[in-house]
Amino acid sequence: MASRVISSWGNVIRAAHVVYGLHSRSDSFPALSAASTVLPFGNGRSYGDSCLNVGGALLQTRTLDRFISFDREAGVLACEAGVLLADILRLVVPAGWFLPVVPGTCYVTVGGAIANDVHGKNHHQAGTFGRHVRQLELLRSDGTRLLCSPTQNTDWFAATVGGLGLTGAVTWAELQLRPIRSPRLDVESIRFANLDEFFTLCAEAERKYEYTVAWIDCLGRGKQLGRGLLQCANHAREGAASDPVPDRKLSVPFPLPMSAVNALSLRVFNTVHYHRQRGRRRLTSEYFQSFFFPLDRILHWNRLYGPAGFYQYQCVVPTHLAREATTELLQTIASSGLGSFLAVLKCFGNIGSPGMLSFPRAGVTLALDFPNRGARVARLFESLDRIVSGAGGTLYPAKDGRMPGALFRSGYARWQEFSNYIDPACSSSFWRRVTEHE
Ligand SMILES: Cc1cc2nc3c(=O)[nH]c(=O)nc-3n(C[C@H](O)[C@H](O)[C@H](O)COP(=O)(O)OP(=O)(O)OC[C@H]3O[C@@H](n4cnc5c(N)ncnc54)[C@H](O)[C@@H]3O)c2cc1C
Repeated sequence: MASRVISSWGNVIRAAHVVYGLHSRSDSFPALSAASTVLPFGNGRSYGDSCLNVGGALLQTRTLDRFISFDREAGVLACEAGVLLADILRLVVPAGWFLPVVPGTCYVTVGGAIANDVHGKNHHQAGTFGRHVRQLELLRSDGTRLLCSPTQNTDWFAATVGGLGLTGAVTWAELQLRPIRSPRLDVESIRFANLDEFFTLCAEAERKYEYTVAWIDCLGRGKQLGRGLLQCANHAREGAASDPVPDRKLSVPFPLPMSAVNALSLRVFNTVHYHRQRGRRRLTSEYFQSFFFPLDRILHWNRLYGPAGFYQYQCVVPTHLAREATTELLQTIASSGLGSFLAVLKCFGNIGSPGMLSFPRAGVTLALDFPNRGARVARLFESLDRIVSGAGGTLYPAKDGRMPGALFRSGYARWQEFSNYIDPACSSSFWRRVTEHE
């Protein structure tokens, strides 16, 4: 046991935590004093306070990093919960398999991917990560080990998938992979001039492509509101899966003394990005890393935001109000002048999520980063919250460090049922914030 200052990816919250570790999947839960609580911690890629437990302890799981079995015929992989998705891809891609769902970074652990029931660019076809978990082991603080799956201890499975680490520690999981013929993707990139065009293109693209995602220039106003690039892709049908895979990386070696992200750099970046493609449509072939994980090429890119850190605002609004709500959100962001490099827009499909607290649901999700500019950003978020809540939407806990409790509780209808499954020894800063305060 040691005490260490831990921050999450947004670097807004930094606090000393007592840190315990799980080093083997047969290790038992740490013995805590009666007054203390603990939260499993993966690789800290959550942006706000859902992976922190300020005033309490963290249980590091990255050291649970062993593969257990890999059936190359059936594409079934079992591994410990601290294994990174990057490590899995390194093992399975040359064997002709791929993870069925990947988020925008491969530096997340299997336990973290389960606890946030993460989604990828293929939600309309594959749903969330949890749908592809065949079974997992849940270690509770009383020493109980529960084997949970869609057919066994099903209520514990539904609580633990998307359960924000609060039901106990996942020690290992078995995943169903999907076959590929090549580490490359055939990518079509389409420029669109406004939101109406986006919605038309997206509906078409989802019929043809497994993966779709759009980048939006959130500084565009008037006729340019919602202009951007839609990226669609399928795994390439040809080429050996064992093609050499390039792995070049840049790094931001230390936190910058001030934020490099300001109104001028944003406008230049967004304009250049929008115009980087000459024609309206472009076809390319890309390695999976550059298509799925473009940000991973710059290690520690979060340091670009300086010591004050940054927030990400990721909401989902239901399909029937998506067009109106997204327009209003983008108008509000554009007139605030506080926009971001990364405005990502994605349509979620109708496939149900397996977790009681899973974030994805049918609708449209918008995600944007904002440098932490104190009260100005807080006021903007309040305006955005009103739009999201008025449309019956909600925010993503993995990206959140500030949503009001009422917005969480109205967006996650099963939160009280879920509370019955929380391990008595587990808690998090996020959970206390959204359930104990108005
Ligand atoms: C650049 C970037 C892009 C991203 N893109 C996406 C995206 O496209 N889609 C998406 O859904 N998310 C995305 N995310 C968010 C990220 O996928 C999630 O926050 C993920 O849960 C982080 O995993 P982690 O291993 O870092 O876990 P942490 O952030 O350390 O923890 C996340 C949660 O998992 C719990 N947890 C961790 N390990 C265990 C365990 N062994 N047992 C039980 N609970 C555990 C923690 O208690 C916590 O509640 C992105 C994040 C970044 C930085």
